[in-house]
Amino acid sequence: MRNDDVERYVEALYEGKADAALERTLASIRERGMPDISVKPGYGRLLTLLAAASGAEAALEIGALGGYSGICIARGLRPGGTLTSLELKADYAELAQFNVEAAGFAGRVEYRVGEALDSLAALEAEGRTFDFFFIDADKGNYPNYLDWALRLGRPGALVVGDNTLLKGRIVEEDSTSPSVRAMRVFNERIAADPRLQGVVLPAYDGLAIARIV
Ligand code: SAH
Ligand code: MG
Repeated sequence: MRNDDVERYVEALYEGKADAALERTLASIRERGMPDISVKPGYGRLLTLLAAASGAEAALEIGALGGYSGICIARGLRPGGTLTSLELKADYAELAQFNVEAAGFAGRVEYRVGEALDSLAALEAEGRTFDFFFIDADKGNYPNYLDWALRLGRPGALVVGDNTLLKGRIVEEDSTSPSVRAMRVFNERIAADPRLQGVVLPAYDGLAIARIV
């Protein structure tokens, strides 16, 4: 049994359940030659489920790309809940906003363009807090983004991090890559930081889920 085979098996369970908004989003990303790195469908569904199950009303996403994960998160929010999304590239943020609004969330999403660390400091200065975080931007800053989630997170907030296994590079013993080193710190904190109750799921490219206790 290989991971790829079982992932395909699980995806096939959803065959025939066309999701027009997500398919349009993926097509728009391809058309523009943007990278094919939207969150995997199974984890997209999990984002919706986690946001809904936790009753999230103010979500913060770090790394928007074309809006795929933004749509998944927005779908799980309470009625009237909002998504704030941080994205380095103006053209990506513009496409993401278009796609998320087209999926039915106009007026409930805010995109901030620039270095996420700068936007996070601005959000803190504005007194903003959140009850759901999705960390999915530059991998070397994951521990910093986790610190920011702890600062801006309401008690009980969920923190989700994508790609925490770095396509298996996380277990290369002799790795000196800064992303690998940073991601190890991130995963270790998900498992052991006393302020977090967390798990790391090893399917796809790894997903960390933690609750701020
Ligand atoms: N969450 C998206 C995928 C994000 S891909 C989805 O699953 O649909 C990672 C994104 O992070 C890219 O769009 C990239 O431009 C952005 N990014 C990279 N470094 C960043 C930084 N320092 N600040 C903000 N965004 C950054
Ligand atoms: Mg990702």
